[in-house]
Amino acid sequence: MTGPVFYPWSAQEEIDPVRVAGGAGSWFWDEQGNRWLDLHAQMGNLHLGHQHPALVAALREQAGRMCTIAPSFAVDVRDEAARAIVEVAPGDLETVLFTTGGAEAVEHAVRMARVVTGRPKVLAAYRSYHGATAGALALTGDPRRWPVDTASGGAVHFTGPYPYRSEFHAENAAQEGERALEHLRRLVGYEGPDTIAAILVEPVVGSNGVLVPPDGYLAGVRRLCDEHGILLIADEVMTGFGRCGRWFAGDLWDVVPDLMTFAKGVNSGYVPVGGVLLSRAVAAHFAHRRYPGGLTYSGHPLACASIVAALRVLREENLVDRAAALGRDVVGPALAELAERHPVVGDVRGVGLAWAVELVRDRATREPLAPYAAPGTLAPEMAAVLAACKRQGVWPLAAGNRLHLFPPLTITAEELTAGIAGIDRALTEVSEL
Ligand code: PLP
Repeated sequence: MTGPVFYPWSAQEEIDPVRVAGGAGSWFWDEQGNRWLDLHAQMGNLHLGHQHPALVAALREQAGRMCTIAPSFAVDVRDEAARAIVEVAPGDLETVLFTTGGAEAVEHAVRMARVVTGRPKVLAAYRSYHGATAGALALTGDPRRWPVDTASGGAVHFTGPYPYRSEFHAENAAQEGERALEHLRRLVGYEGPDTIAAILVEPVVGSNGVLVPPDGYLAGVRRLCDEHGILLIADEVMTGFGRCGRWFAGDLWDVVPDLMTFAKGVNSGYVPVGGVLLSRAVAAHFAHRRYPGGLTYSGHPLACASIVAALRVLREENLVDRAAALGRDVVGPALAELAERHPVVGDVRGVGLAWAVELVRDRATREPLAPYAAPGTLAPEMAAVLAACKRQGVWPLAAGNRLHLFPPLTITAEELTAGIAGIDRALTEVSEL
């Protein structure tokens, strides 16, 4: 029994959630004193770790000054938060619509694209996640969409690059990128370019496996959009604010979208918030036309105060460059070494502090250790791996046949090394079962 709380993505009588007593930095613990290294930063959102003093202080201070105010008023803290985001955003993404999370950000970005272009369709990738509201879930390309796909009007899916499991019979990453792009180009032709409002991409695919596209792919998608007056929407909810070692994952290839969605790392999730960044041209469209949408809590002062504080810490502590260096110098080499010693590891991949360890039954055939499935519905093999990790004091995410490592950007090199050693011991433990 779980009590009066209804838990998301769960069969209520079949779960036994850990009762968390607290957290600090990269660690959290239960009431029995068990401690875990938070290798997935909760939902990949806790960039500054648990109970960061600068964020706690900013929230306290803002609560004393102004807890809430309707979105139609101008307030300093809201301006400041938007300015801080625009400052790190690429290109001419210069205006922000605030939402209360990632899915709503996707809903609004898609609505803007449809209103601006006057076209109905949006293309999105299989193996993607865009949120659990009706429109965002219809665009999602993973099994979370299956049971509730009642609103797929206008959503068309394509296959993005995935060199380890190529759908395009590619023999290397460059070929995979080219062929995935050609597939997308053909799909645009089949669907009718003039009917497509937007192509929605996760520049680095997050919860569907940390799929880093080959160089040139994202720029190719940008070109394809430009050829046909299609807007490019980058969903940076999971990858934004330093996760991939740049402020935004699209910055890895200098690709600037027309609309960008964000949430999670913008304030480390201390208060629910998300938003959409609009290019100058998209914003100009609404200069004298009313935008048809809004939210009671758009630009909530507590959320905005936490954004200002979080971005200041990210900047002052140089956490974005640090994420790149930790990925390159610590996580990458440690996971490569782990892969050498455990035949169950088929592939390790990632960038910055976003990594996946893909587990297989057989390295030669690449047969996955667990079937393609919705997060939360863990196959027994993966449940055993995750349980072993938890016994070793580390808490990664298990999804499908993968372990995901999205630690706080404040994590130390020593903690990362110890965390990967914990996963190492867990894999050994499970191989001996
Ligand atoms: N987009 C991406 C890429 C995500 O990873 C997520 C959540 O994980 C969302 C959108 C949805 O965000 P939220 O859960 O805040 O609605």
